[in-house]
Amino acid sequence: MEDTRLADLRRRLAEVADLEKAASLLSWDQQTMMPRAGAAARAEQLATLRRVAHERLASAELGLLLDALVDREQSLPPDSDEASLIRVARADHEKARRVPAELRAEMTRAGSLARNVWLEARARADFGLLLPHLELNVELCRRYADCFEHQGSPYDALLDIYEAGRTGAEVQAVFDRLKAELRPLIATVLEHSEAVEHDFLHGYFPPEGQRGAAMSLLELLGFDPASWRLDPTAHPFAMSGAPTDIRITTRFDSSHLTESLFMAMHEFGHGLYEHQVSPALWRSPLGRGASLGLHESQSRLWENLVGRSRGLWRMLLPRLRAAFPQQLAHVELEDFYRAVNRVELSPIRARADEATYNLHVILRFELERELFDGSLAVRDLPEAWNASMENYLGVTVPDASQGVLQDVHWAAGLFGYFPTYALGNVMSAQIWERALEQIPTLGDRLTPEDIAALRDWLGERLHRHGRKLTPRETLERAVGSDLDPGPYLAYLRSKFGEIYGLQLEPAAA
Ligand code: ZN
Repeated sequence: MEDTRLADLRRRLAEVADLEKAASLLSWDQQTMMPRAGAAARAEQLATLRRVAHERLASAELGLLLDALVDREQSLPPDSDEASLIRVARADHEKARRVPAELRAEMTRAGSLARNVWLEARARADFGLLLPHLELNVELCRRYADCFEHQGSPYDALLDIYEAGRTGAEVQAVFDRLKAELRPLIATVLEHSEAVEHDFLHGYFPPEGQRGAAMSLLELLGFDPASWRLDPTAHPFAMSGAPTDIRITTRFDSSHLTESLFMAMHEFGHGLYEHQVSPALWRSPLGRGASLGLHESQSRLWENLVGRSRGLWRMLLPRLRAAFPQQLAHVELEDFYRAVNRVELSPIRARADEATYNLHVILRFELERELFDGSLAVRDLPEAWNASMENYLGVTVPDASQGVLQDVHWAAGLFGYFPTYALGNVMSAQIWERALEQIPTLGDRLTPEDIAALRDWLGERLHRHGRKLTPRETLERAVGSDLDPGPYLAYLRSKFGEIYGLQLEPAAA
């Protein structure tokens, strides 16, 4: 009897998971392959799939089934796959039930259409073109937030989509600590910016050569063509159709040598998380990463902790030299390592180094909170953006395409998403600290065996659990503590102190 109900639950949840994955594939196609004129039809297709998935998840039948499984859940260890499935499905169902399917479809449709307007608005640096779409997105997000009893700001309900269980106030406290330490650190390092050469990273690097280099790098990290694809796109992202079908993307800018490589490593980190979720959890709500922040901890770990290390480039630089002999024949490992870690002010988040990156994110997070607490109007965003950029980084934004229009997120309706980038940075250093204890050879003499050991360790400590535990529990299980900016700030002080020959002290608490 019990088992029939559980089988019924699994079947229903597998259908929802299939619909969501089909929608993801359509979205992947939109961003990599689809001709631009396909946008209107694609918005409808995506809205339909997401609406049907939403209706099934919110259905009264599913609610009754979950009620009937309460005893079964309580008879099982909370950590078991079955108890976790019932518990997480119930939470997802309760959340979905509050949101009308039509609102869910409207949010998808509006975001999908605005994404295309954003391309044009960014190309023309014309914020006014995107403004009505952004206003609609904010309005829809507000209506979404109102489906929940949020205490205080509607923003918390949005943040909860991406980082369940954390509040805006909690995130602000972490970010305040980052700001207090990073602003003086950046100012000190920038006084010595001439100490690092980087000219050889700029020039002409044909995209075919870059693609070859990216593949060589990815295969070293564990990209297996049987389960993975790499495609070019304007705004890199990772998507999975299944743990055995990982799609990652990057951007090949012929004037820059390493941008495509770091973007590929970033997306590899996302892909690996999805790839290593336990097969027992596939086709269920548990079969993906626990939160966007944890996802970002994985992409940033591969992009920065591994990707910007001496150990990686000791292995990789000879291959890169062979691909671009003219530009790199005389570049030594130490110079290359310093160049890819150079701190440099830029108005663009995606180009930011590890030290300045978080301020780009904090700025967006603070503007989002103001938008949703009502103290900032959408039409005033460009001005507020530019003022904040000036205040935090001393950067004058040349035009909207390099300012408020540079990222797709808000056009796509994703408010509450940005802070997960900086939370990911913080968690990446906490996880790396533990990984170094277990695999001490992850240093300057990195080998392919160490990379494999790291992959396995991450799979065991973090990836395999998928969404069984809350984001907070998942982090605690991996590192033994909750969110803590300490290891991340220590890592930045030590790394940039060494590169720039400075004694960087922690800020007074
Ligand atoms: Zn990412």
